[in-house]
Amino acid sequence: MFRINIAQRVKELPPYLFKEIDKQKAEAIKAGSDIIDLGVGDPDLPTPNYIIEALSKAAADPTNHQYPSYAGMEAFNKEAALWLKKRFDTDIKSSEVITLIGSKEGIAHTPLAFINPGDIALIPDPGYPVYENSVRFAGGIPFYMPLKKENGFLPDFSAIPENIAGKAKLMFLNYPNNPTSATAEISFFNDLVLYAKKYNIIVCHDAAYTEVYYNGKKPTGFLEAEGAKEVGIEYHSLSKTYNMTGWRIGFAAGGSDIINALGKIKSNVDSGVFQAIQIAGIEALKGGEKYIEELNRIYEKRKRIILDALNSAGIKAYDPKATFYIWFEVPKGYSSAEFVSLLLSKANIVTIPGSGFGKAGEGYARISLTVSEERIKEAALRIKNAKF
Ligand SMILES: *Cc1c(COP(=O)(O)O)cnc(C)c1O
Repeated sequence: MFRINIAQRVKELPPYLFKEIDKQKAEAIKAGSDIIDLGVGDPDLPTPNYIIEALSKAAADPTNHQYPSYAGMEAFNKEAALWLKKRFDTDIKSSEVITLIGSKEGIAHTPLAFINPGDIALIPDPGYPVYENSVRFAGGIPFYMPLKKENGFLPDFSAIPENIAGKAKLMFLNYPNNPTSATAEISFFNDLVLYAKKYNIIVCHDAAYTEVYYNGKKPTGFLEAEGAKEVGIEYHSLSKTYNMTGWRIGFAAGGSDIINALGKIKSNVDSGVFQAIQIAGIEALKGGEKYIEELNRIYEKRKRIILDALNSAGIKAYDPKATFYIWFEVPKGYSSAEFVSLLLSKANIVTIPGSGFGKAGEGYARISLTVSEERIKEAALRIKNAKF
């Protein structure tokens, strides 16, 4: 009989983050419960019309039907560089930009360009699981940097042992942060560059949430730090900014040697993003400012409603300055998984246990604000009435 032998790297993958909660959710739905899913971070609102129109037009143009350049269209990379320059205090040339099939793709391929088997990579804990798994795929060894409340959910570089730092080849970071919703200031990014230079560590900064912010206060980007380009790259995504998660488009910007090495991997794996989507992406970047403000006002309203409910239930939650997540402490006496389970059985609300994002996420859980205000209000009512 034919036997399929699964590779060790697949066998060693941690269980899928949403596996347990998905199972419970499916059972509850089967039993007829009215579930409110505040789990997955996927915007509920549609992509704005001006972007859809640009796609329709570009899709009808036969010159867009052939293989795109794997590095992205010159026009898209140029617009991305321009957008970065306008939005951040940084000077990026289009040759320092590469188009990605969503930032997840670029993140996942980066370790293949820089990690040799046995090399160490510094990974935030809690964090987006792709960082750690892509390091493992490249044969690397993750070293976790706990993001602690007392440090504002920023890593403490001084807590990384000297011999680890000396062996580390790259570091993943993500601010505004998923799942903690923490933001980083320029002083942190400046320290980060100094640290990276000292130990020769490539900084890979995931900036998927820079445009989801509150009170008009725009988060700082890593590329704004002095010398950032020399030591790292930053991944940007159109997914969360313009409600385009299904479209698969993003870009990375930073040091051209780093960008080119990532490009070399990509050129052997994929063939770029459909040009019509890149053309729609150009329009998104050009015309998004007013739209972003409107969208953030919607999240702001939702956020207030949930924060009030958690507050009145005696649950300590962090008021996010950015991202559409609320990170909260599970009440004493429960593990993250136990409390998430309780929320589901008592209130029919799906949340994500912090422990799913790493050991240091234990004791916390994450709420995503990506359902309608009506459902958010209903969820708030249920939280208030649940009496934990
Ligand atoms: C959503 C998300 C991404 C992926 O975004 P895409 O551009 O859609 O691939 C990357 N990093 C974090 C932390 C995210 O939450």
